[in-house]
Amino acid sequence: MSKKDFYDVLGINKSASNDEIKKAYRKLAMKYHPDKNPDNKEAESKFKEISEAYEILSTSEKRQKYDQFGHAGVNGNGAGGFGGNSGGFEDMFGDIFDMFGGSGFSSRRQSGPRKGADIKYEVPISFEEAVFGTEKVIEFYKYENCSTCKGTGAKLGTSKKTCSACKGAGEIRYVQNTILGQIINTKTCNQCHGEGQIVDHPCTTCRGTGTERKLKKIKVKIPAGVDSGSIIPIRGEGELGEKGGPRGDLYIVLSVRNHKVFTREGLDIICEMPITFAQAALGDELEVPTLEGKVTYKIKEGTQSGTVFRLKGKGVVHPKGYGKGDQYVKVTVEIPKKLSEEQKEFLKQFAASCGEEVHEKRKGFFDKVKDAFGV
Ligand SMILES: [Zn+2]
Ligand SMILES: [Zn+2]
Repeated sequence: MSKKDFYDVLGINKSASNDEIKKAYRKLAMKYHPDKNPDNKEAESKFKEISEAYEILSTSEKRQKYDQFGHAGVNGNGAGGFGGNSGGFEDMFGDIFDMFGGSGFSSRRQSGPRKGADIKYEVPISFEEAVFGTEKVIEFYKYENCSTCKGTGAKLGTSKKTCSACKGAGEIRYVQNTILGQIINTKTCNQCHGEGQIVDHPCTTCRGTGTERKLKKIKVKIPAGVDSGSIIPIRGEGELGEKGGPRGDLYIVLSVRNHKVFTREGLDIICEMPITFAQAALGDELEVPTLEGKVTYKIKEGTQSGTVFRLKGKGVVHPKGYGKGDQYVKVTVEIPKKLSEEQKEFLKQFAASCGEEVHEKRKGFFDKVKDAFGV
């Protein structure tokens, strides 16, 4: 069965604001909440559906991915019913159940497995690395299970005990009478803080937390065509989940350093190239630097300063292979600042015959090209 569109599920349009999303979700969640529809399978699955839709659409990053790639873009995000982890999602539970007058309920959200936090990591790369792709080894700190106690938090040779207050459930249920009828509320067990188990003798390495901060190294493949702000998601490399929940994700955020000669606009490459007055006036074959080396380009007689010409297909490849950009070259005519007496004489003669002449001064530009290409 194919999945329903998340916007349709919440009955909103694609341009809905965060407030509208929240309102739509709140309305539907109140209607279909399992506590209001006991033993109603249809309401339950409807509730899961709207919760999932809300989880995705209320997180701008996920919403963006969903808009771009549909369900495929947000799969494996821990989306789905009660297991969801986004901050907004949980806040909503708080909101809704406060409305029912049962604030105790909101603690239920803390007792289930929770996905770990996502880690954002900025990686600077060169212009060429962004254009052609590269592989980077990145190092960062994150929490891992403690190596001494393997994450249990209990001292070696001891183990956790089942909490006697909640018998391991981590929560305590009670019935509450409200204007809407009886609601079964649960609250987190305060003996074990929802863990269901109690550590009598905490591990000395991690002081009972079960985690340790460790330096992690991973190799990241950066595809050709990425740009500043591009995000590479790496599933399951975020922080540890809680209570058996999955790990968070790692998001590599790229920042691309400037190039000496080229700038980028999307998939297009822009460069400015100084030419001499003589070249502009007489026409010439230019050696134009491109990402793949030099190419020759013929400019016409009488080319004006500021003329832009296009080198088709000399831009950047799309990271997903959807085509390739072009290169745009803007020529600027340079007026010589220092002339020899002889040159001035010529120029005067030229002016007298109602023309003009010119001198090369492109050294600076070509030095840059040389530096950048090592040629
Ligand atoms: Zn430990
Ligand atoms: Zn307990």
